[in-house]
Amino acid sequence: MAVANIFKGIGGTRKPGAGAYGNANLRLEVLEDFENAGSGWLWATDAAGHLIYISEHAAAKLECPLEQLLAQPLAALFEPDLEDGDSSGRSLNFRLTAHNKIADTPVRFAPSRAERTAWWSLSGQPKFDANGEFVGYRGSAKDITTEYERKLEDLHLSEYDSLTGLANRHRMGRQLGQTLSAFKAAKRSCALMMLDLDRFKAVNDTMGHPAGDDLLKQVAQRLRRVIGERGEIGRLGGDEFQIILPDIDDRGKLGELSDKLIQMISQPYPIGDKRASIGTSVGIAIAPYDGLEMEELISHSDLALYAAKHGGRGQFRFYSADLKSEAEERRLVDEDLRAALLNDELELHYQPVVRASDHVVIGFEGLARWQHPERGAVGPNVFIPIAEESNLINELGEWALRRACTDATHWPETVRVAVNVSARQFTNPAFVGIVEAALAESGLAPGRLELELTETIFMGDSEETDATFRALKGLGVRLALDDFGTGYSSLSYLRSAPFDKIKVDRTFVDSCTEKDQNSAKIIAAIIGLSDALNMETTVEGVEAFDQYHVVCDKGARYIQGWIYSKALPQQQILENIAAQNFRIEPAGPDRHRSERRSMFRRVGVIHEDHRYEALMRELSRTGASIEGLLGVPVGTGLVLDMGGGQLVVCTVMRVAEHKLGVEFETPLVSDGAGGLCTRHRVSPYALAAAGMPLVALSEGQPIPTLVGGGQPSRPQFVQVVAA
Ligand code: C2E
Ligand code: CA
Ligand code: CA
Repeated sequence: MAVANIFKGIGGTRKPGAGAYGNANLRLEVLEDFENAGSGWLWATDAAGHLIYISEHAAAKLECPLEQLLAQPLAALFEPDLEDGDSSGRSLNFRLTAHNKIADTPVRFAPSRAERTAWWSLSGQPKFDANGEFVGYRGSAKDITTEYERKLEDLHLSEYDSLTGLANRHRMGRQLGQTLSAFKAAKRSCALMMLDLDRFKAVNDTMGHPAGDDLLKQVAQRLRRVIGERGEIGRLGGDEFQIILPDIDDRGKLGELSDKLIQMISQPYPIGDKRASIGTSVGIAIAPYDGLEMEELISHSDLALYAAKHGGRGQFRFYSADLKSEAEERRLVDEDLRAALLNDELELHYQPVVRASDHVVIGFEGLARWQHPERGAVGPNVFIPIAEESNLINELGEWALRRACTDATHWPETVRVAVNVSARQFTNPAFVGIVEAALAESGLAPGRLELELTETIFMGDSEETDATFRALKGLGVRLALDDFGTGYSSLSYLRSAPFDKIKVDRTFVDSCTEKDQNSAKIIAAIIGLSDALNMETTVEGVEAFDQYHVVCDKGARYIQGWIYSKALPQQQILENIAAQNFRIEPAGPDRHRSERRSMFRRVGVIHEDHRYEALMRELSRTGASIEGLLGVPVGTGLVLDMGGGQLVVCTVMRVAEHKLGVEFETPLVSDGAGGLCTRHRVSPYALAAAGMPLVALSEGQPIPTLVGGGQPSRPQFVQVVAA
């Protein structure tokens, strides 16, 4: 078919006076010249959208034989750039079938057929015959590959971080804004995670910026591997990352995902012929529960991240409304702790480490104790992380070292003393000197001092770490790896570091008697591993006999736990020594129960359509004890309102007057900070559907009983706690 025939009638204005034949000939000539010039081509389709004509030059340019192009559906050969703002995201096929005019639309030659990517600017007009029947398209095209690829590149640069290839702050902001507003309409949820690397600055400073860049690239790769298709990852700048996770609001799943991220990020990184390690903290806020608007959700995930960073080594944290008061609380504790150190108000207590075969005490671990004049006993889990945030940990640590060395000189020479050392102390250049001085001043034999280190010391520059290890071994002190299995658990640390002992973390012991748990196997594996490496193992946190039997069965030789003794003041240790009490008989409950935290917390109890106020006195993953209701039969189904939209369905298992023992239908999950929370919360969308304003949840906010239809409800039980 001749070009002229196909293009007859398109855009042509007939010049008056030109003869029909001569005109057509001239036109053909013009068209052929146009095609030969190579700056543009012509094309045509039939009514079914199949290509029936395309300039030979075009085929040559596409490096595709003409026969492979003709008779193909145009929409299968080319695809528009769906991200391109002008194309309104409609497929080419859509526009062709709708018989829309096509004007300068950038399309890509479908790459599966092509040697190289080619971009065309496509224009075309639908053509109708005399009866108004659609007969196909007639159009033109030109190659815009060079310009368009440059445009895409610019676009990419403005949307993506050039170092890691992750989305940049600009893109993440736009994506989050769009997602949140679309999801609000569709009543969907979306989690936002903020990550901040721990000790990245140290790597950057000591190993140099190129090393830092390399590390960030590897971090990005690991993040991609963990997150996969689940969400979009961005680098906001520096060592700050953000992840948008649509349609996830299960805090159990988010906690697991965070743990996985923390684990992955914390494995060592090969950089050139060196090795570097970093950690990360994760803060999480979930729309619509923690915020509906972008600013609110971002600031709340930031607050959660801030709390996670203050909580100690690689942690995640969920946003909750009380995080704001927590920050203030931390500041107060920090002030008081400073004063307590100055006034010598801290004490070091000692918990025995016992040889399981004959129950003989072989050493003690020093544990800091603080009796606050107003607050009462403040636990080290509260004040050590706060001290770690400031330089206070160096002073506190030095005090503990001196105290422990001095106290141990009053014990039998066969008994060792262990002291906890924070990563911050370990990386302090003065640390080795401080240990040396504590030994010299007390006169304690170096072999009797054991320093308990956690895996966080491996964060940062590995050469500095190795040098400190060598210096400490040079002094003759022993080194123990504490809390093994909780944080980073990289075997490569064990290979190179000269540890004398591994301490198996209490969390494995806690769950080693539960069915379907791998904990018992992990304990056995750690013991096997340390045997192979010629290290000792101490299993920590054994409380009950069922645990005791499991860990002994798995090969534990040294045990530290309440089954033998809690930490005792030096005075008590000295009395025991004087009485020649070097053996401790194990004593404890037969069976371990999920840890119950004692507390004093007001909760709502919902039964049928009535809401009561009660006190929660104990809480574990699987149940709680509640005070304040009389006359509740065993077996009653209740719903606890724990605040902040957390409703827990439970059944009454035990009753003693106004005390109820309840068991939860679904176990609680970790809130990342040693506390517990529900997997799911009442959705603000559901509350809005029940007539309340659509706002994020707030902490103490009680959930109104959604049943009852406004009728005053009649209580079936007697409430004995003041509302
Ligand atoms: P850690 O080093 O893992 O110490 C063991 C913790 O487990 C201690 O908690 C101990 O009282 C507790 N524990 C031992 N056996 C049992 C048991 O059978 N059941 C239960 N439920 N707990 C048991 P503690 O004294 O509260 O110390 C908490 C953490 O605070 C320590 O964990 C350690 O990381 C840190 N810490 C304590 N004193 C110091 C210190 O002087 N310096 C530094 N840097 N950290 C310290
Ligand atoms: Ca310890
Ligand atoms: Ca420990």
